[in-house]
Amino acid sequence: MQTRAGFAGSVGNTPLIRIHSLSEETGCEILGKAEFMNPGGSVKDRAALWIVREHEKSGALKAGGTVVEGTAGNTGIGLVHVCNARNYKTIIYMPDNQSREKVDILRTLGAEVRVVKTVPYADDMNYQKQAGRYAASIEGGVWANQFDNTANTQAHFESTGPEIWDQTGGRLDAFTCAVGTGGTISGISRFLKSQKYAPEIILADPYGSALFNWVTTGETKMTPGPSITEGIGNSRVTQNLAGAKIDGAVQVPDVDMVKMVYRMLREDGWFFGSSTGINLCAAAQIAKRLGPGHTIVTILCDAGHKYQSTLFNPAFLEARNLATQ
Ligand code: PMP
Repeated sequence: MQTRAGFAGSVGNTPLIRIHSLSEETGCEILGKAEFMNPGGSVKDRAALWIVREHEKSGALKAGGTVVEGTAGNTGIGLVHVCNARNYKTIIYMPDNQSREKVDILRTLGAEVRVVKTVPYADDMNYQKQAGRYAASIEGGVWANQFDNTANTQAHFESTGPEIWDQTGGRLDAFTCAVGTGGTISGISRFLKSQKYAPEIILADPYGSALFNWVTTGETKMTPGPSITEGIGNSRVTQNLAGAKIDGAVQVPDVDMVKMVYRMLREDGWFFGSSTGINLCAAAQIAKRLGPGHTIVTILCDAGHKYQSTLFNPAFLEARNLATQ
């Protein structure tokens, strides 16, 4: 029998998928790590599981305890699944600029969701800071702290990185992905750079983020936005991102991202979210720079279902001059 051990045992070991249209077009192998196939539906299931385990190991999280987090959605979704399976409560603080679908999913799964005003990180009422304060104020509460808790990086160093290495037989020339907390790029880059033939690591940034400038100039200066992408881009270098081994960065405008997700849907049959669109645009850019015969790996972060009212809503796109036809 080949079975997986419950929810936790079903996280990770995702397929590495060849994206046919982009591979044919560039003469490269464009490969996507299918993180949308995790049981909670995104790349963040890994971070959620590793963070909960770390709090259990340290003794801070005990039976009947509460995990509190500030999250744009996917980490929250991963956390509620993991916590339900282990009998913990979940309280999620979320900024009010996120898609309605994410709030609905979190509530359906059983989290208490507190939607708070969107304010910059420097503001004391920022959703992440509110989550940290609330966790400290309740009996049996822990703060997941995905941005600065490096259990997040560790998840990708111990699982995603080695999986990519094994699945490509160590034959990859470049790896690229967008950054929210930085856990994904940090864990994967640290693992791949510790191997004999280390690939180039390229950060993919949407507009309205400071990370492209940080990589290319060393200054965390915001580029003009806004972007309709969710869960990626950042105004600061988190503890997770600080440990990443990055060689360069590319910027992807929303208009290219939108074209890419619709192309994936119509030509390749995939239904992806916005961060995956950014990642695939970056992978195609890198393939064009390297030329035919190279292998580029990226992350297929989540599927499109949560973005029905935004990315897959023609009126929403038209109002932002992003309509594809
Ligand atoms: N894509 C999506 C859809 C996400 O929710 C996130 C996490 N916020 C990311 C990409 C970025 O991953 P990380 O936090 O590991 O940088």
